[in-house]
Amino acid sequence: MENSNEQTLDVIAVGAHPDDIEIACGGTLAKLAHQGYRVGIIDLTNGEPTPRCENPAIRIAEAQAAAEKLGIAVRKILTLPNRRLMDSFEARVELATEFRRYQPKVVIGFGNKTPMASPDHYQAMLITDAAVFYARLTKWDEYFSGLPVHTISTQLYFQLLYEPPAGEHGTSIVVDVSDTLEQKIESILCYQTQFPPEKRRVLDRVRSTAIALGTVCGFAAGEAFTTVRPLGCSDLVKTVLP
Ligand SMILES: [Zn+2]
Repeated sequence: MENSNEQTLDVIAVGAHPDDIEIACGGTLAKLAHQGYRVGIIDLTNGEPTPRCENPAIRIAEAQAAAEKLGIAVRKILTLPNRRLMDSFEARVELATEFRRYQPKVVIGFGNKTPMASPDHYQAMLITDAAVFYARLTKWDEYFSGLPVHTISTQLYFQLLYEPPAGEHGTSIVVDVSDTLEQKIESILCYQTQFPPEKRRVLDRVRSTAIALGTVCGFAAGEAFTTVRPLGCSDLVKTVLP
């Protein structure tokens, strides 16, 4: 199902930092791009400073290279502050403005706290949840550069590597990424400042997580998502057949 409108996106994945999305669901996004969907990534911050990156411009260039690896149509890096990202009215509006601009059908974002990793991730979840709601609110266009309302059909949560499974009320979905796992790994390797040789064990973890998730569903590799509500359907067979 190809999207012929060059201005809009079918799917937007929202991360806190450039590399979150690659780690969480790079294989799925690459697969969606192969399938003809227009896929976007929005990073709420540029992820800097970090110990090994000399200049934010380097991280941004790495992010664009990673997006190219995955076949991403649009990658936007917002200017909210790394390390002190907070759910605020302004942050919600900034993200919702992008949702109104690109009119995605599906938004994928963080679905839980990530203890022992950046607290920005949980704030990103709160901002994303709110922005999905703000995008569709009427009589408020002045906050969103005059862009019209847009209702996002489906919101999903991804899993990074650190958090407990999300979504007490949702449904787990595992996407078969057997054919895009290497593309995902290559996209993560674009971040040379974040994953120098001594930190490559993260890639082992990415790979083993994908293999473990895939194995449960009979795939060589998988990525997990949770719906924010029970998954509704009218054709049970089509919905449950792989
Ligand atoms: Zn992150």
